[in-house]
Amino acid sequence: MKLTVLGKYGPFPAPGGACSGYLLEADDVKLALDMGSGTLSRLFQRGGIAGLNAVILSHLHSDHYADLLILRYALELLHGREKRIPVPLTVVGPGEPESIFRQLAAFGVYEMVASIDGMKFRFGSVSVTLHRMIHPVPSYAMDITDGRTRLFYTGDTGWSDRLADLCKYADVLLADTGLLSSDKTTNAPHLTAREAGIIARDAMVKRLICTHIWGGGYTDEMILKEASEAFPDAEVAEELFAYNV
Ligand SMILES: [Zn+2]
Ligand SMILES: [Zn+2]
Repeated sequence: MKLTVLGKYGPFPAPGGACSGYLLEADDVKLALDMGSGTLSRLFQRGGIAGLNAVILSHLHSDHYADLLILRYALELLHGREKRIPVPLTVVGPGEPESIFRQLAAFGVYEMVASIDGMKFRFGSVSVTLHRMIHPVPSYAMDITDGRTRLFYTGDTGWSDRLADLCKYADVLLADTGLLSSDKTTNAPHLTAREAGIIARDAMVKRLICTHIWGGGYTDEMILKEASEAFPDAEVAEELFAYNV
């Protein structure tokens, strides 16, 4: 599988960057994992929306779904004018906040599927399992495999004792590192870079890619310094870079 980082920032982008979004491609499958602001433009830089099987949303915070408000126009116009983009496009995401889920459904170009903890589904050779995480709104991690390798994307989540078990032996752990330890508060909605390193170590994953970087000023060096305490080979996601999973 190939994972292209469309955007790595949250909850707002650094200059020139985009919020959370990833393109996952396998032989016969093309999935967008989250589509925060700025990611649709990046998707057009990397093959566009033709052949997209589905969008899977970890949760309905704007930094993860905002570009679905714009993708609707692309679907309406490209489908209407060129008939080369099929609609409705499948969108998997939490049913809450209900007002947002309903708004997306009302556009008529999305087939909305509500996420459930433990839910499994398949697109071609790729299967996806959702796991409920800890966040102010329902948020789901994605465990994705083509039968050969495995990607685990945490979405947004605070610390969870079961995370290391869930992502055990994954080839790539794409982890929320929205915080540095010095900024962590009680019931923080994001993992710290240090916590992501601990989870990666305990889960014995092959590779840790840190993402959901605070656009207000965290540098890659700050993230790596903490994450590498427990997981020395930790990396920070690079926008528009394609990672082999
Ligand atoms: Zn976020
Ligand atoms: Zn969030």
